[in-house]
Amino acid sequence: MNTDSIDATDVASASWLQESFEQLKQAFDQWKIAHGILMAAPKASGKRALAKAFTQSVLCETSASGSLNKACGLCKSCQLVAAQTHPDLTNVDCLVDAKGKQKQSIGIDQIRQLNAKLVETAQLGKWRLAVIFSVEKMTRGAFNALLKTLEEPGRDTLLILLADNIYQVPATIRSRCQVISLKLSQDKLVPWLITQTNCDNNTAVEALNYCSFAPYEALNFINQNRLAFFNGLRNDLDTLLATRITPQEFVAKYADDESVLWRYIADYFQRVQLQLLSGTNSQYQSLNPRSPSELYQQLIEMNRGQSAGSNLQARLQLEGILSQWFEIGRKIVHYSSS
Ligand SMILES: [Zn+2]
Repeated sequence: MNTDSIDATDVASASWLQESFEQLKQAFDQWKIAHGILMAAPKASGKRALAKAFTQSVLCETSASGSLNKACGLCKSCQLVAAQTHPDLTNVDCLVDAKGKQKQSIGIDQIRQLNAKLVETAQLGKWRLAVIFSVEKMTRGAFNALLKTLEEPGRDTLLILLADNIYQVPATIRSRCQVISLKLSQDKLVPWLITQTNCDNNTAVEALNYCSFAPYEALNFINQNRLAFFNGLRNDLDTLLATRITPQEFVAKYADDESVLWRYIADYFQRVQLQLLSGTNSQYQSLNPRSPSELYQQLIEMNRGQSAGSNLQARLQLEGILSQWFEIGRKIVHYSSS
């Protein structure tokens, strides 16, 4: 699912978004809202929906300074926002080039245009708002241009900045913004996933762990039945340890996921390691406890050095690591049968 399509109305049903919305409302109602608001949260956690809900509410005719209401969806302002033609709301994102490909950065010209627009009088007489998606994609020049506006914002101006990773936003920008961090905790996300998908508790927890706690990614994960895929993958790695398939067969089977396969296998080694540490009786108990963590380390290093290498090189490296797993299994099978 493209998270852009998450509607602003979804905010009410997503408790972690609703909580941040309330935080913004409180600041707004007490006249303490900062001119710069930095929303920081991992990809696919709903911050675009939050920004949409907030900007629409600020512009809605039912809201007034010092009293923010949930957007009514019916007034002229709400309709203009929905049609993406509201004259006092500017969205800034990476531009799309002539070939239809999205550029990788937000340039200084885009920010200069935005600055020029923000000094104009609001056409509908309320706030002037701007949302900058992917702040970390701004060039250095763009950051400097934005800094000026953040230092001397016009009256009734709100700049909302969205970042997947707050540490990629320069400190000079961060320090001039009110930071809204989404609280992506298990106790909030698990019940939400269960309501959305009807899955059981374990599935929700596993999906969140696989998706680094990004709720909308976890939702996709469950809807696409990726958990069954991962259970199958782990079974196949067990089968490899039992020497019933070869590393080459394994890699060929997962060719579609080749670019991320290392991460899945690393996760498997981590799980094996945890089982060994917990001392539970398992199929891994005759392994040298260091083996899985060594292979895990090799995968991490392989990924670090990979960007320069070819696909073929990466595949051979991966097969090399899996061969070690196969060899470990071969010795166990050998000793247990002799
Ligand atoms: Zn309205």
